[in-house]
Amino acid sequence: MDTKELNEGRRGFLKKGVTGLAGMAILPSVLSGEARAESEEKKTKKSDKIIYRKFGKTGLKLPIVSMGVMNADNPELVKAALDAGIVHLDTAHAYQRGRNEEMIGGVIKDMPRDSFVIATKIAMPQDRRTGRFTDEATPEGFMEKFETSLKRLGLDYVDILYLHSIVSREDTLHEPFLNVMQKLKQEGRIRFIGVSTHRNEPEVIRTAVESKIYDVVLTAYNFRQPHVAEVEKAMEEADKAGVGVVVMKTQAGVFWDRERQHPINMKAALKWALQKEYVHTSIPGFTEFDQLELDLSVMEDLKLTPAEELDLSEDKQMGVTGMYCDQCSKCVPQCAKGVEIPTLMRSYMYAYGYRNLAVAKDTLESRGISDVPCERCDACTVKCTMNFDVRNKIRDIARIRQVPDDFIV
Ligand code: SF4
Ligand code: SF4
Repeated sequence: MDTKELNEGRRGFLKKGVTGLAGMAILPSVLSGEARAESEEKKTKKSDKIIYRKFGKTGLKLPIVSMGVMNADNPELVKAALDAGIVHLDTAHAYQRGRNEEMIGGVIKDMPRDSFVIATKIAMPQDRRTGRFTDEATPEGFMEKFETSLKRLGLDYVDILYLHSIVSREDTLHEPFLNVMQKLKQEGRIRFIGVSTHRNEPEVIRTAVESKIYDVVLTAYNFRQPHVAEVEKAMEEADKAGVGVVVMKTQAGVFWDRERQHPINMKAALKWALQKEYVHTSIPGFTEFDQLELDLSVMEDLKLTPAEELDLSEDKQMGVTGMYCDQCSKCVPQCAKGVEIPTLMRSYMYAYGYRNLAVAKDTLESRGISDVPCERCDACTVKCTMNFDVRNKIRDIARIRQVPDDFIV
């Protein structure tokens, strides 16, 4: 299939929805094993516009564009993504309070089990200040969430199970959860053990590699990360060790501004993130059909054009800070009240960048952050490394705690 056919096919199906497109779909089979991997390669050649990369030692080859389903609530969009050649769907136990997994379950229920790869994530209670697991983070609680996720997805097993949102070496190696995940793997209820990280990523990735237990790492990675060189080194090491590398937050907050007048060039941002071969796949969180088409189109030519390169430096040209918080935590000790600023900034991005108010509110709720975190503080002493106006952003986002759920869900 040449570029023209592929594009015409996609345009056709985007107009028609997903009906009548089975012939166009080039869905690779994803069971493990070298034979399967070879067969993937042959299919790749046939579908010459989909770029696959070897996914560590898992035996899989995945398209470099996967789907982060987190913000999507339209099953037709998920179907369209699968029909267009996307194989790997990424969700989490907590997304949309379980409805995200349920929606995916509805989409895949009649599909051959070897035609898709499902990743889900389980987050356990963490201390507000340190990000470390609290005493409430028990293996029993973990298992309860896992069983619920399987039920929602309608599956006997998931392909990747991530220990979610890990920030430290100690928690990456937290034995009770590693034991649970290894047991689940032995029982065939998960195929691969993963860890996801949005903060202190290099340490978490390196620890995962060193453990020899993790098969996959999922890390934040984008053109705005101040410590991007360190993240890249750690990903390269993971790749060399045969660990699958998935990247998220590639769109760096989606918009440059709170008013959503200046979108980040999403195609350029995704291309940027896929330049390095040690990045095996990405999970951009598209919510519209045209965004799906745009994300897939990066595979026509991964090279950034001069105009795209310029677009990625718009922050400097326009003097804006964007919405992506690096989660570096350097602000926390500067705040006399010890406000959990990184979490508030993440929630801000979910609300104003992704327009996902439920996740924004859940993020604050799960950390017990109040609707007025800066109350009785006269002057902000925080200097953010990304130059955010921290106080104003906190004021904007924290009030979401007052919004009743039925306005959001
Ligand atoms: S708000 Fe600024 S200083 Fe604080 S974690 Fe985010 S980027 Fe770092
Ligand atoms: S205004 Fe600044 S220093 Fe004061 S509580 Fe809020 S974040 Fe902390």
